Amino acid sequence: MNDAGPLDLVVANGVVATASDVFRCDIGVRGGRIVRLGHDLGPARRVIDARGRYVLPGGIDSHVHIAQPSGEGIEMADDFETGTRSALFGGNTTVMPFCLQQKGRPLRAALDAYHALAEGKCLTDFSFHLIVSDPTDAALGQELPALIAAGYTSVKVFMTYEGLRLNDAEILATMDVARRGGATVMVHCENEDVIRFMVARSERAGDVAPRAHAATRPVAAEREATHRALSLAEVVDVPIVIVHISNGAARDEVARARARGVKVVGETCPQYLTLTARDLDGMDWSGAKFVCSPPPRDEAEQAACWRGIETGVFDLFSSDHCPFRYADDKGKLNPRGRENFRYIPNGIPGVETRLPILFSEGVMTGRFSQPAHGGASGCAAAPDAAGGGAGDDPL
Ligand SMILES: [Zn+2]
Repeated sequence: MNDAGPLDLVVANGVVATASDVFRCDIGVRGGRIVRLGHDLGPARRVIDARGRYVLPGGIDSHVHIAQPSGEGIEMADDFETGTRSALFGGNTTVMPFCLQQKGRPLRAALDAYHALAEGKCLTDFSFHLIVSDPTDAALGQELPALIAAGYTSVKVFMTYEGLRLNDAEILATMDVARRGGATVMVHCENEDVIRFMVARSERAGDVAPRAHAATRPVAAEREATHRALSLAEVVDVPIVIVHISNGAARDEVARARARGVKVVGETCPQYLTLTARDLDGMDWSGAKFVCSPPPRDEAEQAACWRGIETGVFDLFSSDHCPFRYADDKGKLNPRGRENFRYIPNGIPGVETRLPILFSEGVMTGRFSQPAHGGASGCAAAPDAAGGGAGDDPL
């Protein structure tokens, strides 16, 4: 540690939370790194008075969608500048958006295009997960191994969504490539055939309002797909992330798989802790705002998701930030989306509100115990306090 000269920055008088302790002390920064925790840290070029405030490690939101193609005539509300600005206001210093391979196009071209959109625009650190939507021989044989070797070590596959979903054989082949390169596979788990069956039935009955979105994507469709994805990962022996788990049954699949040795990371999101399917049942068409997949469930499933965090079944608390404008021809109320829930783009914003929601609904309500403020002795904590926040696990 270079102790020479004044510090660049001191954050003074705050209550500092590290991964292990909460205590009162000052933070000294030099050259962009935290070099001291303690009191009377000496002169600094800049001092921020954090009296009466918590000072937390920068959040890592490992599941955000920014500027992702979302179907004919639909446009996401954020670009990399606005998305990462929101992230920063929400206490995040790193985000991980997705690079979506378009059908018939090489993965590398998609990645280059995303980097071109992001470079020079981002106000936080960022990297990309790779979505494989077209697992051709070239994509799996050459491109993906090369990209994994270059450091893109998380690959996402979908079991649902027309144009994105892979069948089990394709998922297995993708998992196998990931395993050989040492990458992790993230899976969106919902049974596409169940959803198609339910959607067709709902349309025949004339039930096409936003609330039908939740009714046509039942817990059973998510639970079954979660079990199947975990089984496929078990066969291949690849680490897997089950993203955005919305309910207790899918959570229990994760716990059971982990108990039998599957390397699985479970993720949930604010919407499954704070919204229910009734929020889709708004006056006029306003329930469209809450259309996301999997859909929010009910209070019992909310409690199950909280329990998943408390018991450590969920390792990740991400936003699944995926914003669309509401009253907009390219957003939720696009011409077809105004008539039928099927055409309402799936996704809600959250990168800015993720950590505040966890604090207000988790800590302030007493669901999570808050460590007592240790005295000055806590300042002996290791100076790696700049790491990820609790529950933030870089993938
Ligand atoms: Zn997502």
